[in-house]
Amino acid sequence: MPQLDHRLRLLRRHARGWAAELRPYALDLDGDPDVVLRLRDATAFHHAARLQIPAAFNPSPLVLAGERFLLTSALERVVFCEEIARGDLGMMLALPGASMSGVLVAAIGDRAQQEWFYGRLLERPTWTFFALTEPDGGTDAAGLRTRATESTDGCGWHLTGRKRYISNALRASMGVVFHRTGDGPLGLGAALVDTTAAGFTATAVPTLGVRGAQLGALHLDAVPITAEQLLGRHLSPMRRGSWGWQRTFNLLRPTVAAMAVGLAQAACDHVREHRRVLRPDERDLLARVAGEIEGVRRLTRRAAVAVDADSGSGHLASAAKLRATRLAIGVTRWALGSFGPGARLDQPLLDKFARDATALEYMEGTGNVQRLAVAAALDRGAFDGYPGVGPTATTGGR
Ligand SMILES: Cc1cc2nc3c(=O)[nH]c(=O)nc-3n(C[C@H](O)[C@H](O)[C@H](O)COP(=O)(O)OP(=O)(O)OC[C@H]3O[C@@H](n4cnc5c(N)ncnc54)[C@H](O)[C@@H]3O)c2cc1C
Repeated sequence: MPQLDHRLRLLRRHARGWAAELRPYALDLDGDPDVVLRLRDATAFHHAARLQIPAAFNPSPLVLAGERFLLTSALERVVFCEEIARGDLGMMLALPGASMSGVLVAAIGDRAQQEWFYGRLLERPTWTFFALTEPDGGTDAAGLRTRATESTDGCGWHLTGRKRYISNALRASMGVVFHRTGDGPLGLGAALVDTTAAGFTATAVPTLGVRGAQLGALHLDAVPITAEQLLGRHLSPMRRGSWGWQRTFNLLRPTVAAMAVGLAQAACDHVREHRRVLRPDERDLLARVAGEIEGVRRLTRRAAVAVDADSGSGHLASAAKLRATRLAIGVTRWALGSFGPGARLDQPLLDKFARDATALEYMEGTGNVQRLAVAAALDRGAFDGYPGVGPTATTGGR
């Protein structure tokens, strides 16, 4: 991946400044997820709420020094998300906006569905949810059990089921519920849902990391929806189901990788700032860690460019997500270790970074799932080699 061009460097520079505004509230948000509601004047809050809205629906896109940014490409999202996560990963996940649902709506929504979704986002800062995972598991999306059942009078549908670990579930006012209308892969679907609908209940799920994301469980008790809310009704069952979903996940994965890179960078910055005197061996290790972060950053950008070119080709995105998660976990633990025993108590921000890093393992598919995708790509000759394999400064090879 070449260096960022002028436009993307501009975006990165501004996003870095917006992230710095958020950092002072990182630990507060970790203690109380409602802190984000009091940050409406923060620049990142304001911009995130209106990003990812395509040009056709967006009368006032973000303009920086005469350049327009929509964040509808994976590469732009990667640049933005890395910087905001470098400020604070919990905050990154707590901000309002189109988020993951926006990518799905852009991929498979019809014109009316997109108008409704983006129109709501333009009205006011709005949180969205993306409800795929169920209590019985999230990895096997095709095994989900939530049902959409057509009313006997043919006037609509009802959603019934349970979802779990859903980001922003309690503060969202709309989102996407993955469900099935019938058995087998052709029965899979996703629907736009308003959280004020009858039968929709969200409750908090306590977590150790990324507490700002305020994960929740959804209880869907015959939630009424219209046929117009069934996403991709203009597409074939395959295209609005697993085909469309896979492309959406491929587009999202580099973004999670970028958040992991941002978190690793934040931990590295913390060591630089707070361990002013380093032994020569510690200085060497710090330099190796910085080099490792840069390598994974490049892999992540390459993955974003690859999915922007072909969203059906997700193997680089899987490699980046796998590698970046391992990096974030390794670097945050190394950073804690460099402050000696008691670091978890003496360095509360680093302790939080290490807890947040562990959560990345589960977002957008676990490491095992990414390994399977990378192995399948290797098998069919899609890679010349496995990018990033080999021992690392903080984690060793795995
Ligand atoms: C911070 C955070 C935010 C999240 N946000 C959302 C959200 O907004 N929306 C949403 O829908 N979900 C969300 N999730 C849930 C996340 O997507 C799931 O945790 C993830 O998909 C894994 O599902 P699971 O936890 O049910 O584990 P399972 O699917 O039950 O897997 C358990 C273990 O088995 C392994 N495993 C499973 N299948 C295989 C296989 N075929 N081969 C090898 N190993 C396998 C997995 O790697 C894992 O280690 C979030 C999770 C976190 C931590």
